[in-house]
This record gives sequence, C-alpha cells and structure tokens, in this order.
Amino acid sequence: MISKPYTAVRQINRRAFMKLGAAGVASSLVRPKNAQAWESKAPPDTESFGCLTDISRCIGCRKCEKACSEINKLPPPMQPYDDLTVFDQTRRPDAEHITVVNRYHTGRLDENGKLAPNYVKIQCMHCVDPACVSACITGAMTKSDSGAVHYDASKCIGCRYCMVACPFEIPAYEYHKPLMPQVIKCTLCEAEFTRNNRPPACATVCPTEAITFGKRSTLLELAKKRLQKNPAQYVQHIYGEKEVGGTAWLYISSVPFAKINFLKLPHKPLPKLSETLQHSLFSYLWSPIVLFTILSVVLFKRSKKDVLPSSNTSEDGGKI
Ligand code: SF4
Ligand code: SF4
Ligand code: SF4
Repeated sequence: MISKPYTAVRQINRRAFMKLGAAGVASSLVRPKNAQAWESKAPPDTESFGCLTDISRCIGCRKCEKACSEINKLPPPMQPYDDLTVFDQTRRPDAEHITVVNRYHTGRLDENGKLAPNYVKIQCMHCVDPACVSACITGAMTKSDSGAVHYDASKCIGCRYCMVACPFEIPAYEYHKPLMPQVIKCTLCEAEFTRNNRPPACATVCPTEAITFGKRSTLLELAKKRLQKNPAQYVQHIYGEKEVGGTAWLYISSVPFAKINFLKLPHKPLPKLSETLQHSLFSYLWSPIVLFTILSVVLFKRSKKDVLPSSNTSEDGGKI
C-alpha cells in the first residue's frame, strides 16, 4: 500500500510554492544586512562527483540501505533487511534511515513477460545549487567542491529552514534527541572517496551495479550512452541532469519517472527562484511600509496639533 503523500505524481504545487516563499522570507528576515545576493557556487561538472542510479537494474535487495546504516552508525532497523513487508508502504528517508528503497507496481514486464515491480533507492540528491544551502542562515549546510552537500552540526542552530527549503523533502531531524539533535541526510560518503579513495558504501555493495559512482560529467556520458544504446529499454530522460539546476545524484529508468514518484521540477535552481520570490515579496512589502510611515507621520502631526494652543481656540478653551 502506498502512503498518502506519495500516491500521486507530485508536481511543484501550492504547498511547495509556499515552502519556497517561507524559506525565502525567513532567510531574508534573519540575514545580515550586508549579506550577498545568492549566486551559484557550484563546482564544475568535470571536477565534482556524484552517483548514477540505473533503476532498471535495481532488484530491491536493500543491501545499500544496510551498508549506509552501518557506515553512518545508525541504529539497527525495527524490521530486518530481508523482511520484504517493508515494501508495503512507501517510505521517505528519516533520522534513522538515510537512504530507503521503495517498490512501485508500474505494469513493467520482465524478460519472461511477467509483471515485475520497480525498485527505487532515494536519498539526498546533492543538488548542484542546493536550496538547503541557500536557506541555511548559519552556514551549517555547504556545497563542497567534491559535489557533496555537507552538513556541519557544530554550526546548526536547529532552525530547520533546510528541511523547509528542500524540494525533495530529504533532510530529517532527530526529534527524538532532546539534547543536541542534528539534521540527518546522505553525506555522499564524502569522507570515503576524498580520504580513503573508496566509492560510497551503497555503491560498493550493490550486487547489480545499479549505482555507479564517478565524476558527474562522466556519469552523464555513461547515462547518455546507455540511453542511446538501448532506446527501447530506457525512457529518454536523465533525471537530475537539469532538474533544479542539476543534481549530483542522477537516475535513468525503464519506466516514466512520473510512475515512480519523481517530482516534476523546474530546471531553474530553487535558490534562484526563492531569491526572486524574496525580492518580489520585499518590493511589494515596501508599499505598505511606506504607507504606514506616511500615516504615522500624519497622525503624529494631528495629535501634536490637537494638544498645542491654536489661534482658532476660543477664550474659554473650547474649539470653534
Ligand atoms: S536534495 Fe535537498 S537536502 Fe539534498 S542537496 Fe538538494 S536541497 Fe539539499
Ligand atoms: S552515499 Fe553514503 S550516506 Fe549516501 S546513501 Fe550511500 S551509503 Fe548512505
Ligand atoms: S543494493 Fe543495489 S540492487 Fe540492492 S536495493 Fe540497493 S540499489 Fe537496488
């Protein structure tokens, strides 16, 4: 059974729009006066890393979930990894599950002509121009040159603007920890590939090579090659190549992305959109502020006039 918020193809809707606005206004209100306008600090594709998930190869074994949990020292799950009833509900990453695999019945036929589900692993997309970074007022979220979107718990004040801003609804919060709760999300296993020269744990364990780690530019080439070589097998779309300005985590699929719960998102980076929104909101806000100021001055002058002696005051002090 699919849980309610994820039953339909989610387009950027009113709620998402309001979220964008809320994040934009919130960050504008608390930003220092000398804050710079948002500008992309995205590392070039040729330098930054990412992962390509080929959804047609995923068999739903959940080995990636287990490896992720272990490398991030998360508590063991309530249901063992081989308990397939977990697929009865569509899940989102949370504070105890940085990545999750979901099952979708899309009407796909396997090589024997039998109906077969699709499995989709989800985690932080490591956006090229991340909305979470733009919304974070303390610099706790940063985009690293490696391609990873990095979270620094020591700078986090728990405002959770990153959670509001993320178009993929990814960052989770440790609500169950009253002392020093943190935002939890995929790290891209940045330490693994920058320090230990190893791919992310989930990519390493995947038995079907559904996840490929590499430079984003190389992954895009690889994805395009697979699409060209097997046009009948793949939908001609690389999800993440352009969505929200691009993401480090890319996907290719044999079924339309709409059928497996991928958001239809604009190509413009969301920080750019929220900034435009902030500017528009504030330019419109100026009019009531100016009006309020003029009215205050008028009222103040009138009240002063009322208490001061006037040439139009009669001898008994009564007004004419
Ligand atoms: S998916 Fe969300 S949390 Fe991850 S980088 Fe993009 S905006 Fe940030
Ligand atoms: S890259 Fe690392 S943190 Fe992210 S989902 Fe894979 S194993 Fe987990
Ligand atoms: S390890 Fe690979 S095949 Fe198994 S669920 Fe994860 S992505 Fe799919």
